[in-house]
Amino acid sequence: MPTSEEYMEMESTYGAHNYHPIPVVISKAEGIWVWDPEGRKYMDMLSSYSALNQGHRHPKVIQATVDQMDCVTLTSRAFYNDRLGPFLKLLTEVSGMDMALPMNTGAEAVETGIKLARKWGYEVKGIPDNQAEIIVCEDNFHGRTTTIVGFSSDAGSRDGFGPFTPGFKMIPYNDLAALEAAITPNTAAFLVEPIQGEAGVIVPDDGYLKEVSRICGENNVLLITDEIQTGFCRTGKMFCFEYDNIKPDILLVGKALGGGLMPVSAAIGSKEVMDVMKPGNHGSTFGGNPLACAVGTAAIEVLIDEKLDVAATEMGAYFMDQLREMNSPKLCDVRGKGLLIAIQLTPEAGPARQYTEALKSNGLLAKETHDSTIRFAPPLVITKEEIDQAMEIIRKVLA
Ligand SMILES: *Cc1c(COP(=O)(O)O)cnc(C)c1O
Repeated sequence: MPTSEEYMEMESTYGAHNYHPIPVVISKAEGIWVWDPEGRKYMDMLSSYSALNQGHRHPKVIQATVDQMDCVTLTSRAFYNDRLGPFLKLLTEVSGMDMALPMNTGAEAVETGIKLARKWGYEVKGIPDNQAEIIVCEDNFHGRTTTIVGFSSDAGSRDGFGPFTPGFKMIPYNDLAALEAAITPNTAAFLVEPIQGEAGVIVPDDGYLKEVSRICGENNVLLITDEIQTGFCRTGKMFCFEYDNIKPDILLVGKALGGGLMPVSAAIGSKEVMDVMKPGNHGSTFGGNPLACAVGTAAIEVLIDEKLDVAATEMGAYFMDQLREMNSPKLCDVRGKGLLIAIQLTPEAGPARQYTEALKSNGLLAKETHDSTIRFAPPLVITKEEIDQAMEIIRKVLA
């Protein structure tokens, strides 16, 4: 059997270098734990960017997948299937919305949200043809399509991929005055992350989303919240918008909806917005396939049955307390909500990469975002004892 070194070499030789992975090969996983081909064990503190909230290979998600594979896996939307209806019903119930449109990857859900908002803008709000504007935030992360990277402020994501789709306006995050100033009669929507995950777990001021919702409502502008990373109990609620007692017009979900098994995403919204989509306007060959629906249904049921919202709140508070108590001179900030946590390194501490590699060598997998931030976002099934174990490693590397 090839060694870890050989697998890494092979990826690097035959694969495009669009990632810079931590040098570890994962060949087996269960819950919060993963193993490399040599049998070394690591704690997963990235959870595939929050796509593994239920943990690796959750038995109920695996069982639902196996059961569904014995029935039917792919139908296309040319026909109905017996899993899509119940899945959509469940999605609308857990989000408190009216209707959902199923896709696969997060970026596709975002594209769907953009298309919904524009069409609503023309047909319902009465924006003149091709004039619709969507307001987005600096340091956003919404995915990798050409339209989406076109409104990114990250040069590494954007440069070299133009020309870009017009119709987007950028404002600073967590800035209500900037939002009010940016709105025009042609504004269809404001697209925002309740917490900016990829930017380094940037938590806005308390009540930000509540005020955003008010401003959008007063101006007949749709509020689109991208909860692809913050959704499904990650921040301590089923959805992060619940902290502000609001409801977005369009909610974008993905990642953990796939239960760690496969890409499952959706744009969820009010009937008024969803009704702009007519047959032929939008679609996806794999979107809403019965296997994905079975996986998504099980993924949500596990979150509810195991009260992973409560777990994220409690374990997140415990973890953040421990990180703060460490009082490491290398750290200048510990921030987050639920189990979406980041530590900020001081300029003197040097690049974050050396620490994520040291954490790996000590059995803990985490990933740096930008040069000086490390994110800790373990599966929500992590226990207090396992957080204590993680803290021992983190102290050893960072204290
Ligand atoms: C990961 C992510 C996306 C993109 O999801 P993909 O499945 O990688 O296309 C979009 N928005 C946010 C907030 C994300 O974290």
